[in-house]
Amino acid sequence: MLPTAKGFYRPKRTQRSAFACKVATPNEDALRVCPIPGCGREPQARAGRGLSLFHCRYHVQHRNRHGSLWKGTYPASELQPYRRAAESFLKANPSAPEIVAALSALHDLQYWAGPEQRMVDVLTMPPKRKARAFFARLRANEVPPSRLLAIHLAVTAAVAEDTIGPGGEPAEYRLVQIAKAAHRTASGGTSGGVTYRYARSTGLVLRHIGEALDDACGPVAKAHLDAILRLKAERHRLWLQAHRADHLGIGRRLGGKGV
Ligand SMILES: [Zn+2]
Repeated sequence: MLPTAKGFYRPKRTQRSAFACKVATPNEDALRVCPIPGCGREPQARAGRGLSLFHCRYHVQHRNRHGSLWKGTYPASELQPYRRAAESFLKANPSAPEIVAALSALHDLQYWAGPEQRMVDVLTMPPKRKARAFFARLRANEVPPSRLLAIHLAVTAAVAEDTIGPGGEPAEYRLVQIAKAAHRTASGGTSGGVTYRYARSTGLVLRHIGEALDDACGPVAKAHLDAILRLKAERHRLWLQAHRADHLGIGRRLGGKGV
């Protein structure tokens, strides 16, 4: 370590090896067992396989991928009713000022994201640049801003109605889920007859993508989330009515044949 005007300067390589040493050294101050019910593994720090004093490696990785220590990612089918309601709402209110501003911000996010990057280069980028590369990819894939806004509103509405809860930091889970749902719109494709797929999204890049989308779309959710939830409930009620009517119709037809 070298003394400088502002204190001590530690060369980068030394910083890295000190960090690696800290990660690999078992820490007796950590909890004895990961507190997630039914887990029973040692926390990362106690096992000398990471920094978390509380949770095991498996659950820390789960949080990196899904935004929650134990709750998984919403499947597309679970988000679908919220997304349809959001799309209907956006169609019915195209000139609401929050919506106009959000669509413009989403357009800018893609427009200023820089050139499209090669898949192999993206792998080694730091998380912030990976997030920019993701928005450049959305632009190349011509993903419309309205689709991203509908995704943001759908996930925000699903989290708001989720009776199980987010299993940790609510804001973190919501942002990661927004990013993951957006990631599904441009996770791969076909080029020259060859199908390709970008690496599974995880870690900080998801937080950066989620934050950028939330900055653009947050005011719409703040102003209109209740209306979207009411619309979703109304659509569900109509669907149930139609389903019941269909069911009765089939019953009547079967009855007519003397079954
Ligand atoms: Zn655990």
